[in-house]
Amino acid sequence: MTIITRFAPSPTGYLHVGGARTALFSYLFARKNKGQFHLRIEDTDQERSTDESVQAILDGMQWLGLNWDSDLVFQTQRFDRYKQVVQQLLENSKAYRCYCSKERLDELRAHQIETKQKPRYDGHCRHLTEQKNAPFVVRFKNPESGSVVWNDMVHGKLEFQNTELDDLIIARTDGTPTYNFTVVVDDFDMHMTHVLRGDDHINNTPRQINLFHALDAKPPEYGHLPMILGDDGQRLSKRHGAVSVMQYRDAGFLPEALLNYLVRLGWSHGDQEIFSREEMVNSFDVAHINKSPAAFNTEKLLWLNQHYMKTLPADYVAGHLAFQFKQLNIDASQGPTLIALVQAQAERVKTLQEMAEKSHYFYSDAFVYDEACVAKHFNKDIIPALKLFIQKLEALTDWNKEAIHGVLETTVNETGLKLGKIGPAIRVAITGNTTSPALDLTLCLIGQSRSVQRLQKAMAFIHGM
Ligand code: GLU
Repeated sequence: MTIITRFAPSPTGYLHVGGARTALFSYLFARKNKGQFHLRIEDTDQERSTDESVQAILDGMQWLGLNWDSDLVFQTQRFDRYKQVVQQLLENSKAYRCYCSKERLDELRAHQIETKQKPRYDGHCRHLTEQKNAPFVVRFKNPESGSVVWNDMVHGKLEFQNTELDDLIIARTDGTPTYNFTVVVDDFDMHMTHVLRGDDHINNTPRQINLFHALDAKPPEYGHLPMILGDDGQRLSKRHGAVSVMQYRDAGFLPEALLNYLVRLGWSHGDQEIFSREEMVNSFDVAHINKSPAAFNTEKLLWLNQHYMKTLPADYVAGHLAFQFKQLNIDASQGPTLIALVQAQAERVKTLQEMAEKSHYFYSDAFVYDEACVAKHFNKDIIPALKLFIQKLEALTDWNKEAIHGVLETTVNETGLKLGKIGPAIRVAITGNTTSPALDLTLCLIGQSRSVQRLQKAMAFIHGM
């Protein structure tokens, strides 16, 4: 049997991390089993669905590299098919026209609440024999007795009594299909074998299984993923900061880091923390999905991000870093290559955004000296050493890290000033601050003439102090 899974987002917002994790698990399950993974846009709610949101979902999926097989499916392009299935169910007496007015349904509901019954449709039109010339909805004839049982891939055996379930509306008065119905028709037509989705859908599943049976079809296997909580134990939401996948890109995360983070969110493989995409595919196993909610841990995501910045090929990381410079409006064309920058900074920062922000001085001379650094490290005692250092730098014919290091050492030796005194002053002179990669490397990357100019400017500044 070919395993077929899908991710079926409703395009009513961005692709959030919960959705991305559902997509990832469905993707991994299919890939692991050499099956197929599909993407279906559930846009039947035309008031809440937007094109921007469809685009945001596609961008998020592409950025994460969650490639889907065959064409994207849009529910809004399948209305004829839904109508056809509604008709089929009516003809087979598995559905019926319900003419109940809103007033009647409101009264019924009020009465049920008053008498402490669970509000549900009472089947008033279920046994009507003649058709009326009046507006109607189409309701599914849910079985009146027995129960729906399934062996959930995550939660194990789940059972719902049919008496708890309503005769679901499958088509509204205007003929448009409703949510639970379209999902079933699609999962049926797309030959889904396994459905992984958020556990907010658990209550829909028994209704959907009954619909499958009414279509004389075998329902897929279902697995309901526990929700994701924020660091504070509350359901993950905007309050916790970034929740959309593309916000993570904007904040300087690599897709590899977010994917690796998401795969461990409620799933484990021994105590392994780092997973390449290939390892994820090979080790993924539904049996190890956790039943209880997973808590989001930003620190761990940052740790993974740094791990990937350090270990993925620098030219690949540099490609993602370029985006950050663009965001910050920094022209990185004059100065060290982004590859060299990644190599110099990956150890020192947690995100690519931080890397770009802390690297502006490599590309622009327009920085100001940090006041506290000036107070601490700039003073007239160091002028002779600075002067000597500049002379020696200017004389270098080969501008490389080792040569610069040698110049630093001889300056220290010849002036008798400690490196601890002159080093920070040089750093402030060339970067504005005392936080930068190693001094020789920083000078090397800034370049000879630029470094010399900055040191001269600092010397003039100290003279004027
Ligand atoms: N469209 C639903 C959602 O975005 C998912 C439905 C499903 O996976 O069955 O929550």
